[in-house]
Amino acid sequence: HTITRPPPTPSPLRFSKFFQANLRILVTGGAGFIGSHLVDRLMENEKHEVIVVDNYFTGSKDNLKRWIGHPRFELIRHDVTETLLVEVDQIYHLACPASPIFYKYNPVKTIKTNVIGTLNMLGLAKRVGARILLTSTSEVYGDPLEHPQNEEYWGNVNPIGVRSCYDEGKRVAETLMFDYHRQHGIEIRIARIFNTYGPRMNIDDGRVVSNFIAQALRGEHLTVQAPGTQTRSFCYVSNMVDGLIRLMEGDHTGPINIGNPGEFTMMELAETVKELIDPTVQVKIVENTPDDPRQRKPDITKAKELLGWEPKVTLREGLPLMEEDFRQRLVVPKSQNN
Ligand code: NAD
Ligand code: UDP
Ligand code: UDP
Repeated sequence: HTITRPPPTPSPLRFSKFFQANLRILVTGGAGFIGSHLVDRLMENEKHEVIVVDNYFTGSKDNLKRWIGHPRFELIRHDVTETLLVEVDQIYHLACPASPIFYKYNPVKTIKTNVIGTLNMLGLAKRVGARILLTSTSEVYGDPLEHPQNEEYWGNVNPIGVRSCYDEGKRVAETLMFDYHRQHGIEIRIARIFNTYGPRMNIDDGRVVSNFIAQALRGEHLTVQAPGTQTRSFCYVSNMVDGLIRLMEGDHTGPINIGNPGEFTMMELAETVKELIDPTVQVKIVENTPDDPRQRKPDITKAKELLGWEPKVTLREGLPLMEEDFRQRLVVPKSQNN
């Protein structure tokens, strides 16, 4: 029954509403790793009210403990695959497990979160006239045949593999965003996030940086998945949050890659972590999982030109900040192994 109509020109009222100081901002997945850092940054602006919805699958209230009880903050236990009724000006839609071990744990649920969850947030955006930002992923490029990846590349994704619930889920989420934009005039923003690391990652999250740091602190072998020559490019979380906010506040729908172009093999990463935390730990080559992308590095020309954004923190600067956080949580004082 839906009639196709051209996107409306933003009314002066809508436009001024966006720039007026007091915004009510919804962050889905705000109890997670990137979400909680984003909430910190949004809450630091005293004019904003922030509402977080999260089902705590991979996130925790602990990540938000400094804001619980704050008059400008609300935390709602809610699953985005269900209808949500709130009145907001902006939606940062992050809800979705990001670590392969968690998104593969219940793949059907991952697909539902990406597809039905994004549909619901778009329905909400349509009803209240909110601008919505989706945190998509470099995984939409799959095992890329172009290197580095720019936003024009359509990707090389296995539609029926064990990672597809996440990769294809995010691809459909991007499609939904653009269809709501074209069909209903919704203001959308799409960030394609590349591997991000920093304090508050789950210790047993399964992602490579958190694994290596936890393993080094526990004096365990660093598990490099074969062959170890595969590459990733790691962005420090504070830089990521800065990029997401710039994208939301700017004039471009995206998709825009947000990531750090500094590219490392997993073997190089292991050696760097070893050198930093404990040169005596050993590297062990273990079996890899199916469809692991062999290389990944963002082309961030668009982010630089359109958002005036580029990452500042290098891997060697960011890893010690994460180490400090992991030492506190694992209760390993500095003197013990360094
Ligand atoms: P995370 O797992 O720490 O956070 C995801 C949050 O979403 C968690 O708090 C989780 O409980 C919540 N969640 C999951 N399913 C939900 C549901 N159905 N309803 C409500 N809440 C739900 O992951 P993260 O690293 O903070 O990633 C945040 C977003 O960024 C995700 O959308 C992810 O796909 C995207 N992303 C992250 C990376 C990265 O390297 N961290 C890379 C690319 C894309
Ligand atoms: N939706 C929501 N909150 C709202 C408005 C809509 O969660 O405030 C959900 C709604 O349940 C629906 C989805 O968003 O499943 C898409 O909504 P839309 O209005 O675009 O489509 P329709 O309801 O016509 O299928
Ligand atoms: N990896 C590894 N050891 C680990 C975990 C992951 O060598 O303990 C490798 C994995 O094979 C992949 C890369 O690190 O090539 C990044 O994996 P991660 O799960 O962090 O994120 P992805 O980019 O695959 O989503």
